Amino acid sequence: MKARARIRRMRQPWRFSWWWVLGGAVIALAGAAAIARQSLEQQRALFETDARIVHRLLSQQVVQHDAILATLALLQPAPAAPASPGKGSPEQRLPSLYPRILSVQRSDATTPWPDPALAEAERLSRQSGRAALAPLDLQSGRYRLVLAASPASYALTIDLQALVPWAEWPMAAETSAVRVELEHAGQHHVVQPGRLRTGTGSRFEFHKVVAAESQPFDVVATQTVGWRQWPWARMAVWMLAVATLLAAVRHLQRQRIARRRAEELLRLGQVARLNTLGELAAGMAHELNQPLTAVLANTQAAQRLLDDDPPELATARGAMAQAAAQARRAAEVVGRLRRAVERPDSGGQHQAVDAVEAVRRALYLLEPECQRRSVLPALEGTSALSVMADPVALDQVVHNLILNALQALEQVPPAQRRLTLTLRTVDGLGELTVTDSGPGIAPEVLPRLFEPFFSTREGGLGLGLSLCETLASGMGGALSAANAASGGAVFRLRLPLARAEA
Ligand code: ADP
Repeated sequence: MKARARIRRMRQPWRFSWWWVLGGAVIALAGAAAIARQSLEQQRALFETDARIVHRLLSQQVVQHDAILATLALLQPAPAAPASPGKGSPEQRLPSLYPRILSVQRSDATTPWPDPALAEAERLSRQSGRAALAPLDLQSGRYRLVLAASPASYALTIDLQALVPWAEWPMAAETSAVRVELEHAGQHHVVQPGRLRTGTGSRFEFHKVVAAESQPFDVVATQTVGWRQWPWARMAVWMLAVATLLAAVRHLQRQRIARRRAEELLRLGQVARLNTLGELAAGMAHELNQPLTAVLANTQAAQRLLDDDPPELATARGAMAQAAAQARRAAEVVGRLRRAVERPDSGGQHQAVDAVEAVRRALYLLEPECQRRSVLPALEGTSALSVMADPVALDQVVHNLILNALQALEQVPPAQRRLTLTLRTVDGLGELTVTDSGPGIAPEVLPRLFEPFFSTREGGLGLGLSLCETLASGMGGALSAANAASGGAVFRLRLPLARAEA
């Protein structure tokens, strides 16, 4: 089954920091919004408390006017008394007792009202049985209230500004952001201007008619909370706290990832050592072959010399000494091998292995190496490929191929560094190609690439590729190398497909 090739960028774990930034921004903004909302709610609660106090204070003041008029009507002199009140009469004394009462007027059968509006209010009062407002002019800052009584009716002229009990007022009238007005019949009187905030923002409103039926003024309080009144300092502290916390968590996570990566590399290193020892064993066999052949040749020669008549003892002794020396060398080789091999090779367990995951794992482990060389590997081809392999050996091969490519890329300028890993199925086999944009492989090097101990790198062991080839063929696959058409090297690892894939 050939999966349709699909090109996509390798998901690089270090790129995930953008998700951290995004997540952090969302948390920080959500928290800041909650703080702003809470502050707004607090301001609203404060506003409503103040507005209710204002309403209660104004109601208390206004309701007194009904009581004053009723008292005047009750205490008025008998009809026989002189029509014009004396100096000490209650209505004369009222303005000094209540500064908001500017004047008290009185009308009876002999003293008509000086203003027909008062006569009209008296008529209304007589109709309703309670005090009535004379036609209003709130702009003038005063209003008149008339109570019809017998024999005389009374009218109060009240100063609106003096009506306000500033001593008990819950706000600082000059600086408060709250605007307070008294409204009635489309007219209004500003009690407290409030620092008016124009533009966008939240607007609080309070409407309630004062608790006096004769003077049904609507107490209107408003406040606009603009951007400037937002709790910026608290919001900034919160955002800073979130950023610090996220940075700390991110740091811890990075540390954990680095530790895990180091453990993985250690594990791979141990496997590499084991596999390298396997290679070493092959080398040793080669080394043993030579002294053993020499031992055989020398002992055979000695045998022949001893058979001669007379036997050539001196030469035979020399040949035996040679043989003994060669045998000692062989023993040394074996001893060296025994010392080197501490653990027997576990032997590969072939099973279905997700090749894409193996490549991802290797890229993850080599992420710091890639970053250090400014290489952004691209993973291309099929997104699902299952091969028969020893998972540890496969990891080892992929790791080696990528590391070699990264080392080759060091020889070209960073801007030209490309590393592409392609996974696909070819001729019924799973194939991984590792293509780099490095200098490529020289023609004289190409045939020797998989030889043990062949290296062109300074300090190179020359065992990596020979080990990879051994591992690949051990898994029933093959590893080959070539120069890419675009210039760099391309290493091709082919492995049998897992049964389901095949
Ligand atoms: P080492 O890396 O220790 O030299 P290897 O067996 O891994 O041993 O590689 C053997 C040689 O193959 C390297 O020295 C290098 O010359 C060559 N080689 C391996 N990979 C590449 C590559 N991607 N591009 C060019 N040459 C390479």
